[in-house]
Amino acid sequence: MDDVRRGVPRTDSLLADPRLVAAAARLGRPTVKAAVLAAQQRVRGGTLPAAAVADSVLESLPVTATTLRAVLNATGVILHTNLGRAPLSAAARQALVVASGYVDVEYDRDTGRRARRGRGALSALRAAAPAAQDALVVTNGAAALVLAATALGAGREIVISRGELVEIGDGFRLPDLLTSTGARLREVGTTNRTTLADYSSALGPDTGFVCKVHPANFRMQGFTAAVPTAQLVGLGLPVVVDIGSGLLAPDVSLPAEPDAAGALAAGAALVTASGDKLLGGPQAGLVLGQQGYVDQLRRHPLARALRVDKLTLAALEATLRGPQPPVRAAVVADPAGLARRAEALAEALRRGGAECAVVPSEGVVGGGGAPGVLLPGWAVALPAEAARALRLGSPPVIGRVERDRLLLDLRCVPPEEDAAVRDAVLAVVLAAAPAPTSGS
Ligand SMILES: *Cc1c(COP(=O)(O)O)cnc(C)c1O
Repeated sequence: MDDVRRGVPRTDSLLADPRLVAAAARLGRPTVKAAVLAAQQRVRGGTLPAAAVADSVLESLPVTATTLRAVLNATGVILHTNLGRAPLSAAARQALVVASGYVDVEYDRDTGRRARRGRGALSALRAAAPAAQDALVVTNGAAALVLAATALGAGREIVISRGELVEIGDGFRLPDLLTSTGARLREVGTTNRTTLADYSSALGPDTGFVCKVHPANFRMQGFTAAVPTAQLVGLGLPVVVDIGSGLLAPDVSLPAEPDAAGALAAGAALVTASGDKLLGGPQAGLVLGQQGYVDQLRRHPLARALRVDKLTLAALEATLRGPQPPVRAAVVADPAGLARRAEALAEALRRGGAECAVVPSEGVVGGGGAPGVLLPGWAVALPAEAARALRLGSPPVIGRVERDRLLLDLRCVPPEEDAAVRDAVLAVVLAAAPAPTSGS
C-alpha cells in the first residue's frame, strides 16, 4: 500500500518489462530480481525517481553471469598468478566454446562406442614432446607431482636435494605436498650444494624414486652445486623431474629454463610441468615420460580424482596445435616495438590532457618461471594515484606501482587493446583532474 502511494513500481510489473525479461534469460532471474529490489529501495529512499527504476536496474546489471572480470594486464608480469596466469590463444578460446556443449571427448563417432578420453590432446602432447613415450594430463602441476609421488613413492622414500625444497606460493610447499602422499622425504646435501655422492649414499631398498625439482621462483648464486639429471639417472633408480614451467623444448630466449625434451633425453622416468606457465595453455599438469611409469600413474586410483575436464583438454590441444600463444609473444616482444607503442599511447594521452612520460620498464616471466630474467621494455608512467581508479575502470587496467609512479607496460597487452588502455586512462585521469583550458 505504502509503495503504491509513493509510486514505487511493482516487482512483477518491472520483471515483465521486456528488457528485464531478456536480462533474466541471460543472467538468471534471481540476479535481476535482486537489482529490482535494490532499485525500489532507492525510490523509497527518495534517491531515484520512480520513472527511472527500469533503466536504473538495466544499468546496474552485470554484463555476464560470472563475477569474473576480464582485465588488461599492464603490469609487465607475463604469468601473473593473481590475474589467471596464461591468457589463452584465440584458437584455444574457440576450442573452449566448442567443448562447452556435448562433445565427443570420450566417444568414437565411427563405432558409437567409448573412446580414449582426451585422445586429441594426448596425441598433440606426444607430437610436441616426441622424446616422451607417453603422456598424461591432470589438473595442475602440483597434482602431477602428487600423483607421481603417490604411485611411485607412497610408503617409501623420495630422495631430494635440500636446495630444492621449494615453496611454490600462497604458503604451499613442495615437501609438504610430497609427504602428504604417505611418502617420506630423504633430504640430501645442503641448501647451496648437493653432490652425486650425497644422493648415492642415501639410496637403499626403501627408495621409491629420486626427485629433481626446478627452483622456478628463485635463483641461487655463488658457491653452489647441483647434480644434472643424466648423472642422477646413472644411479639406477627412477628419476622424476619437476620442471615447473612447461617448456617442452629448449627456448633460446630463456636459456636457463629447463625443458621436458632435455630431461627426457637425460633419461628421466617422468617429467612433470604446468600447462598454464610458459606453455601458454590452460591450467593443467603435464606428465611426460617412459611408458611403464606413465602407465603406473594412469592406472592409479588417484588419477581419476585428478582428471581434467573437456574444457581443459580442448584448450590444451588447441594451444599445442595452434598458433603461438600470447605468453610466447610476450616473452619475445621486441623492445623497439614496445617503445613505439608506449610512445604512441603517451602521445595520445598528452593530447587528451593527461600528464605522462615514457620510461624504461623491465618485464618478468613471473608465476614461478625464469627467475632473475629481466625482459627490457618500456612503460607509460602516470601518477600512482590513478592506479585504483584504473583497476576499477572499464575495462579494468592493472598496472604496476613502482617508486610512486604507476607504470603501464604494454608487453602483455594485445596491441589491438592499446586504444582501450588509452580510453580507460583518459576517462580516469581526466575525471580526477580536468584538462587545463589552454593547451600550453
Ligand atoms: C609452478 C610449479 C609447480 C606447481 O604447478 P601448478 O600448476 O601451479 O600446480 C610445481 N613445481 C614447480 C617447479 C613449479 O614451478
